[in-house]
Amino acid sequence: MFNFFRSPKVPPSAPIKPDSAKKLTSKGSIKIIKQTNEQIQIIERIEQAYCLAEAFFNRSFTRPEIGFKLRGKSAGTAHLQENRLRFNPVLLTENIEIFHQEVVPHEICHLIAYQLYGRVKPHGREWQGLMAQVFKLKPSTTHSLNVSSVKGKSFSYSCGCGPISLTIRRHNKVVRGETKYRCRRCKQELTKEN
Ligand SMILES: [Zn+2]
Ligand SMILES: [Zn+2]
Repeated sequence: MFNFFRSPKVPPSAPIKPDSAKKLTSKGSIKIIKQTNEQIQIIERIEQAYCLAEAFFNRSFTRPEIGFKLRGKSAGTAHLQENRLRFNPVLLTENIEIFHQEVVPHEICHLIAYQLYGRVKPHGREWQGLMAQVFKLKPSTTHSLNVSSVKGKSFSYSCGCGPISLTIRRHNKVVRGETKYRCRRCKQELTKEN
């Protein structure tokens, strides 16, 4: 019954085939909104999740506005009054399975809790009940996401002790010749590994 939680696995390296949705702007000109495969899958997943919630409560829910421009370390956010969901496109590409299984139901439960009960604790009783009863999920407040790519890039350097990684900020200083880094232990200058 809950088979649809298991979406077809898409490897992160899969080529992104942009799909164009045409929308009329207020001026009547055509605006092209490009969506990646992953984003289309998420939009479909959201619709499935809403259908499930509607069947469960035997009522309809207004569909949210969906955006994919969230930055930083959050996978998704729910804006209750605007009935809007925002997702992180970088994390989505790298964690498509977890978005399907956890992130989408998690954020939808925030919106549905608001529509059913009004202002309640974000991860309180009402939200937990929705996660468990409608989506049969453990109401955990954190996602098991791989966030390495949004944590900031690191660069491999080495000294006499072995490899060491420098942050992008430090690496850029080395590249610009502003500074040199030395290992505290062996006192050797750190050199970039290829
Ligand atoms: Zn939450
Ligand atoms: Zn060293």
